[in-house]
Order: sequence, then C-alpha cells, then structure tokens
Amino acid sequence: MNGTDTLVLTGARVHCPDGTLAGGWLSVSGERISAVGTGTPPAGRHLDLAGAHVVPGFVDVHCHGGGGGSFTSADPDEARTAIETHRRHGTTSLMASLVSAPPNALVDQLAALRELVTDGELVGAHLEGPFIAEARCGAHDPSVLREPDDATVGALLDAGDDIIRMVTLAPELTGAIKTVRRLTESGVIAAIGHTDAVAEQVRAAVDAGATVATHLFNGMRPLHHREPGPVGVLLDDDRVTVELICDLVHVHPDVLRLAARHAGRSRTVLVTDAMSATDVADGRYRLGNLDVQVAGGVATVPDTGSLAGSTLTMDVAFRNLVHDAGLDIADAVAATASHPATLLGIDTETGSLSPGLLADLVVLDDDLRLTGVLRRGSWVVEPLPTA
Ligand SMILES: [Zn+2]
Repeated sequence: MNGTDTLVLTGARVHCPDGTLAGGWLSVSGERISAVGTGTPPAGRHLDLAGAHVVPGFVDVHCHGGGGGSFTSADPDEARTAIETHRRHGTTSLMASLVSAPPNALVDQLAALRELVTDGELVGAHLEGPFIAEARCGAHDPSVLREPDDATVGALLDAGDDIIRMVTLAPELTGAIKTVRRLTESGVIAAIGHTDAVAEQVRAAVDAGATVATHLFNGMRPLHHREPGPVGVLLDDDRVTVELICDLVHVHPDVLRLAARHAGRSRTVLVTDAMSATDVADGRYRLGNLDVQVAGGVATVPDTGSLAGSTLTMDVAFRNLVHDAGLDIADAVAATASHPATLLGIDTETGSLSPGLLADLVVLDDDLRLTGVLRRGSWVVEPLPTA
C-alpha cells in the first residue's frame, strides 16, 4: 500500500471497543480502517485532530426523514435528502421508518426505498405500524390502524422482501403474538410499541421473539408500580433492546439516565425518530397523512397536542446523553453505534473503530460538537486540523 493513499487521523482520543486511546491515531485505506494505535503514527496523509474525539459513525434504527424530505413520500429524491441530512450529523448507517398507512401505500413506499437499500444508502426499512393500538397511536393516523391478519402481514413481507428489517406492533392486538413469531422466523426484528398492553401481554410477545422496545416510554402505557406495563417489562428483560429518544423533550434527562443505566451498554440504543422538519425551519409539515406543526424544533399534531416524532439528530442525541443524562462517552458510543450495529447484524462491517471495518466515524470537539464525518473512507464533513 502506498503511504500517501492512507489517511491518518492523529492526536485524537480514539474511542475503540477495548478503551480510549489518548493521543491515538487511526489510519484509513480506501473504504476501511486499516489500523489504530498510539505512539508514532504510520506514514500517510496526516490530519492533526489534537483535542478531538473520534467515535464510530452513528447507526440510527428509527428515522422518518429530515431536511424537508420524508421516507413516506414514496419519492427516492426525498429519501436521499433525508439520508444526506442525517449523514451530515454523523449518521453513517440509517434505517428508514414508515408510519402507519394503508398496506398498498406501504407497498409503494417500500418500492421507492428498495434501490437505496440495495445501493447501501439505507440499512433497511422499519414499519412502525399499522398494527398498533389506537389508544397509544401518537402521531399515527388512527383511521389506517389494523390488526395483523395473516394476509396483510404476508403481503407486506412479500413486498418488503429483503428490505424490511423491523416491524413495530402492539402485542395486545388479535394475531399479534403469532405475527411476532412469523416476523422472527423471517429474520425481521419484532419491536413492541404504540401499545396499551399490560405486562403479561408484553411478556408473551418477548417470549415469542420480540427484541426491541420502540421509543421506550413514548407511545405506550406508562410504568405503574402495580401494573408494570410495557415499560416495566421491556426495560427489565435482558432479551430486549430499548430505544430512547434523547432530545430532552420526549423523555426527561433523569429518566433517560435511569433507563440507560438499567438497560446498560448491551441493551440501549439512541434513536432520532426524526421527521422531515429536522434541520430545516419551523412550520407546517406532514408525517404520513397527518399535519404536523413544528415550533422551536418540537413537532406536534395540532389537533391532539401529541408529539409527532422529533427534529433530533444523532450528534445531538450523543451529546445530550453525556452532558444532560450524565452518562459516559463509552455509553454514548455503545448506544449510538456499536449496539445498534449489533442489533441490525451489521457489526462485522460498521459500528466500532476496529481495523478491517468500514471507515465510518465522527469527529467531535472537546465539547462533543460535531466537526467531521467520514463515511466509507470519504469525508462527508471534513474537519479542520487543530494544529
Ligand atoms: Zn417513529
């Protein structure tokens, strides 16, 4: 390998799986990380990042859009806008989430995403509904919700074929437990969310194979000491990964801390649940079929006041988890990159700073503000050298 083809990031705090290398270096050849270490860096194009943190590129498993673009529009150009917007904020692997819609509309939306998944621009698609509870539907159009009958589930799985990676459903619906089994057997993650279930119903779904809590606390019956409900069961069961929306609006920082500490590094993932208004001005937007008002970056459904996704980006979620919820940087690395990559089964390609993996990484300054994004060895945002 010609040394000048190798990019070498030097002088940074490099957050590797086995610990943080202070004053470390990381070298990139082509699309991949070639080595990490401390001491004298190898030959190559050096970029001095003294004082900065280098962390793995973020993996967001729950995102509806951004930059004015939405994954529900069935328009690949809008999807590209959303992908590029989140990429600039450090998300190097992204799942496209679709809100509840009539099955034929979901089939069209999946078709519009297929090529982006095949090309590696998206990791896959997530159906957030339509098999969810009206009582906890949040910003989903209640008129399109339905029970998971075999024919509809089969039609969606056929249409989504290789690209559906996760389906969120409410376990109390007729047919839900059977559907959890079917999804799991098909290699699709069954996630529990937008549910009014009691603890027993939730436990039955986990026993049947459900492994994810869709934005824990939001869109579900709250924790009660005599009825643990979804929160009590999902947060405490070692088989379940909990999603947390770390925008400090959806969940109080003290509760983020409680949940992330209880679930730990091997079960916590931060998600944006971001909608199209992310990274653009406040105003009127659409989330699926519903009008959404965005004011001060907070998205709500005007008729009900229900929160309608977020305008969060993963870099802000990372920083909030450390600065506001008081967790360690290593916890934030696990929750934004390594654990979601493991959840999606892409951890042999991305999600940590290890030689051989894709060179997907984020550079953060001392205050944890994003200054650089490298995806597959190419700068999306190029940091300025610090010296
Ligand atoms: Zn969502």
